[in-house]
Formats: sequence, structure tokens, C-alpha cells
Amino acid sequence: MKQAIQPTKQTAIFMMGVSGVGKSTIGTLLAKQLEIPFFDGDDYHSEANISKMSKGDPLTDLDRHDWLHALNALATQQLKTNSCIIACSALKESYRTILETTIAASTKWIFLHGTFQQIKERIQHRNHHFMTSDLLQSQFDALEIPQNALQIDIHLSPKEMVTQIQKSLPLKTQFGLIGLGVMGKSLSRNLAQKGVRISIYNRHVPEVEEDIAINFKKEFKELASAQTFDALPAFVKSLETPRKIMLMVNSGPAIDAVIEDLLPSLSEGDSIIDGGNSNYNKTKERFDFLKSTGIHFIGAGVSGGEEGALKGPSIMPGGDAKAYQQVQPFLELIAAKDKNGIPCCNYIGSEGSGHFVKMIHNGIEYVEMQLLADVCTVLKAKGNTPDQIADILESWKPTTNSYLLEITITILRKKEGDDWLVNKIMDTAGNKGTGNWATIATAELGVPSTLIASALFARYTSFYKAERVAASKQFNSENISQPKITIDALHNAYQFARIINHYQGFKLIQEASERFKWDLNLSELARIWTNGCIIRSDYMIELVTIFKTTNNLLTHENTVQALKTRKSAIKKVVAECVLHELPIPSLSNAIHFFTNFITANSSANLIQAQRDYFGAHTYQRKEDATGQFYHTEWNLNEPKKPTEHGNTSN
Ligand code: NDP
Repeated sequence: MKQAIQPTKQTAIFMMGVSGVGKSTIGTLLAKQLEIPFFDGDDYHSEANISKMSKGDPLTDLDRHDWLHALNALATQQLKTNSCIIACSALKESYRTILETTIAASTKWIFLHGTFQQIKERIQHRNHHFMTSDLLQSQFDALEIPQNALQIDIHLSPKEMVTQIQKSLPLKTQFGLIGLGVMGKSLSRNLAQKGVRISIYNRHVPEVEEDIAINFKKEFKELASAQTFDALPAFVKSLETPRKIMLMVNSGPAIDAVIEDLLPSLSEGDSIIDGGNSNYNKTKERFDFLKSTGIHFIGAGVSGGEEGALKGPSIMPGGDAKAYQQVQPFLELIAAKDKNGIPCCNYIGSEGSGHFVKMIHNGIEYVEMQLLADVCTVLKAKGNTPDQIADILESWKPTTNSYLLEITITILRKKEGDDWLVNKIMDTAGNKGTGNWATIATAELGVPSTLIASALFARYTSFYKAERVAASKQFNSENISQPKITIDALHNAYQFARIINHYQGFKLIQEASERFKWDLNLSELARIWTNGCIIRSDYMIELVTIFKTTNNLLTHENTVQALKTRKSAIKKVVAECVLHELPIPSLSNAIHFFTNFITANSSANLIQAQRDYFGAHTYQRKEDATGQFYHTEWNLNEPKKPTEHGNTSN
């Protein structure tokens, strides 16, 4: 990532002053800092001018005319693509007028000045310099001090001069961020800490949301150079083009409202990144709409929560691959790094694929959380305190470590007064909708990602607190003994269920990839999820390698072996929990799904018969390999009738 901070995207900087003042030295240093080209004006003199100067004859205005126009043409040409620095004495106002002809608005003057004596001594130290004292004096005589230039005294060291110039240049920022809530604040600080010049914006709501950006900037020293705004046009104007603007606002109508407000200020080729948890279908709609206006739209999933956003999140950008190249250096700079130091951020695929995979990431996250909750349910029923449960989970780290396991251990150990804090927290689990969308997606795509649904519905069940309390009085059996489950069996059951969870989540992504022609790379996706995100784990690191050989986890030898080894443990654990009335929605769903999946001849034949009975939906027959559809008049006991098409609407 280039960390240079350029001046206004296209600015011609003329470094002026008499000969010997250090224009080339300072110009070269500054150009290096800003990563823009440097041109020495003297290289553009005609042979005649050079010969005249070397004889000690001063140039006339006529001699200079073509040279100044050549430099103006050079600057004009450069401005089409880049900023540039041109060293040129430009002593008279009339010369400067020629130099900035038609490009005055994009021109910046820097005047290096010193005393005659200072410069004379410098020149005398230089070998082969053609400047005589008389010629130097003639330059001082001709000099018309510019009124609109940044004046830099040459008694400073070159480094100090460059720093002073950089501070004074009207710099445009490289990256804009809208929405200074939890995530927006952390991402802004992350960007600023990495040296990116940012503009930050939060809406102004009188007496509710005022001076959010200014006050936020005051809190953190890394934001010293951040530009703050509560008006969108000024915010947009502060950014270099093509602009890169990231939205960290709530998903839904807020995104459309911000885009609508932004549009009048944007220019073709600018990019908007939606870093929130937007619905992937909406992302495609926004992508298509913005494409028609010439604005790029990138739907980027961001995972890692507040801390991840600050220290390095996992980022899943989707949309136009070319547009991604514009924002890639910034997103990869702030992303977490995997074990090989590669950013946990890569282009995912077209349309809303970035938001789709983030949604499934969250679905997998729901399950991973619920599985840990299930494990704690069992361990608590076995009479362990939260501290003891934490100790047990701690012992699982060497084989089963994950971010969620680690935070669960910390949570379990947290005490408030004499009791553990976790015991005081109301048992109604919230959600922000991504698990809901993931469940809808799995249903829409016809993929049995049952664990995501089970974890989501476990949260929904938890909402019914009052009714659950009443029902527990009504239905709970009394005096149930402790479940006979060993820690080892529980650990194996947990590992079994995690494999099923990852199988189902990645399967859903693979099916979507095929359906929408996204061509997603599961191994790369697993790699992006090895750090920064909430579902990072040792197992995810294993999946990077596994998905290099297959997209179907259940066919991989390691997985097959792991499931075979642990199957009896999860059966025992779930059976004991059922007998002891312990709710373990995700653990039990994992084995139920698995049992269903490994049944070669299932009960779905009866479902087909029922469908055909009441709706004439037809069915296929096992002995007919052609796949022909049949219908039976069930009540009349008539022989079967082949039909041309199956009806699968019910
Ligand atoms: P917050 O609620 O903390 O912040 C939301 C921001 O959006 C605020 O700055 C708010 O401004 C702004 N906003 C809301 N409505 C509008 C509007 N109509 N116009 C302009 N600005 C608006 O949310 P988060 O930072 O937690 O989340 C932001 C996005 O990131 C969400 O999509 C979320 O799902 C996603 N996300 C969140 C994670 C987390 O751990 N929190 C993790 C990963 C993704 P104001 O202050 O004026 O209300």
C-alpha cells in the first residue's frame, strides 16, 4: 500500500526562486514524499538558451517565451493524469502568468527564498555551476516576489522545508467514511493509524446528533489530520478523485437515504462501499442502480465487531472487480492479516456476493455461539460453576481453539460481587437480522442448512421469557438426575457439531455460487475467515487446505474420519440430554441432520405419496431410472399412470 498523501488529485506545483536556491533538491524530495513526478525546468531550455547562460549572458524575456510555454504545456499534460512538481525560476509575474495559462486553478506556487549572500555561498560550493555573481544579482533585480506563493526560507534543512511544504499544501483526503457509530469510529481510527488521510462524516440532527465528527476527532490523537464534516457536499469535496467512500450506517433505508444525498455531489468513477450488514439482494439492486449513474458500488461484509474494526477486521468485498482495485489498497491495509501476513480481505465475487458470504458467516457464527451455549448447558447440569466450566473449555483450547471459545472462557470467569456476571444476564438473546436472512436464503436456495435455522429459532424461543417461565412450572419434570455425560464425550459431540455447522454453511455458499454464477472460492473464503472475524478458529485454518481439494466437506477423508470417530459421542450426549430435559438445540440438530443425511432410503417416499394423494403432484419410482413422473388415483386403487411433467409446487 502506498501511503503517500497526494495534494489535490491534479495539482501542478511550481517550485520557484532564483538560481541556486535549491529548487531541484527540494522539488525532488517533495516529489518523492508525494509520489508524484518531478521535472527540472532547466532541462526544457533550448540549446541557444543554455549556450547563452553558460557564457554568462542573461536571458531576455523573448528567450524565455518558448521555454515558459513548453513548461506550461508540460504541466497541462501532466494534470490530465497526475499532480507534478516543476522547478522553474519564474522570477517575474509575467512568466508565472504564462506558466499557469488555463491551469491557474490547479496550480500551486512555492517560493524558496534566501539572501543574496546565502545563495552566492551555496553556488560557490557547487562545481561547474554557470551562475556568476553578476548573473545572480541580475536575478535578484528581476525578482518580483509572488503574492500567492507559499514562502519557504532556505535557512531550514531540506527535510524541514519539505515538512513545512507538506503541512501547508491544501491536501485532499484519500478515503471518506460516513457513519460514526460503533463500527465507523473503529474503522476511522484504524485507517488513520495506518497513515491514510481520511474525511469523516456523521449526520447532523439538531439537539440529538451534533458535532459528532468534531468531538470524535478530539478524542483520539491519530485523528489529528482527519477532516471532519456534518455536511455531505463539503465532505465529498474534501476527497481526492476518484472518491472512495465507505458507509458504516445501519442497513436498510438509511443506506438508500445516504446514497440519495451523496449522489448529487459525486462524479463518474467514484466508488461507494457499503460496509454494513446489508441484504445481498438489496446490494445487487443498489449495484445495478448506481452502475447506471457511473458510480461503482461495492457491498463489503466486515466482521470482527468493534475491536476487529479497530485492530483489523476480516473484509469480504463484492461487486465490480475493476472498482475493487480502486479501494483494494485501503481495505487490505486495514484488514487483519492471516498467519502468512496476507490480508484477510480479497475480492469475493460480483453483485451482492460479499454481503451474501458475510450473511452466511453470521449464520455460522450464530451456530458456533449456540453450540457453546449448549455445551455450557450440559456442563452446568453436571453441577459445574461458571469458573469450572471455563476451566474445562480452557482444556479444549489445544485441539479446538476459536475466538468464540476464548471469549466464552473470559465471559464465564467474569464476576460481579459474589456471583458470576453471566448468571445475572437476562436469558433473552437478541439479533440484528442476518441469521434471519441466512435462514431465508437457505430456504430459498433449497439447501438444508438446518443448524443456522436451529440457532436462530433458539434465539426466538428465548424471547418468550414469561411464557417459558410459566411453561417450566407446568411441564418440567422434577428430580431429574445429572446427565451421565463425560467431558470427553461432550468435547467430541461439540467437535462433531462444529464440523456439521461448517459443512452446512459452506455448502450454502457453494450452492449460491453455482446458482448466481459467482464462482466463489471456498478455500480463499476460509482463509479470509482465519483472522479478524468472529468465526476465526483453528478449524477454519484446516478448512483452507481442505477446500483446496474439494468443495464438499463431507467427502474429505479427514472429515469422514473425524465424524466417524465422534458419532457415537454426540448420539450419547444428545440422548442423555433428551432424557434429562436439557435444551441443546444445535447439538441435537447436528446429529439429527447427520442421521437424516446418511440415510440412503428415507421416509421422503411417503411424503411424495401424500403429495400425490392430495395434490396430484406426482412422484418418481425407484425402479424407473428414466426419472419419469407417475400419478396414482389412491382411493380408486387404479394402476399408476405415467405423466409428462412432475408438479413440485407443494
Ligand atoms: P451504530 O448504530 O453504532 O451506528 C450507525 C451509524 O449509522 C450512526 O453513525 C448513525 O448516525 C448512522 N445512521 C443511521 N441512520 C442514518 C441515516 N438515515 N443517515 C445517515 N446516517 C445514519 O451501528 P454499527 O456501527 O454497529 O453498525 C453499522 C453497520 O455495520 C450495520 O450495518 C451493522 O449491522 C454492521 N456491523 C456491525 C457490527 C458490530 O459489531 N457492531 C459488526 C459488523 C457489521 P447517528 O449517530 O446520527 O444515529
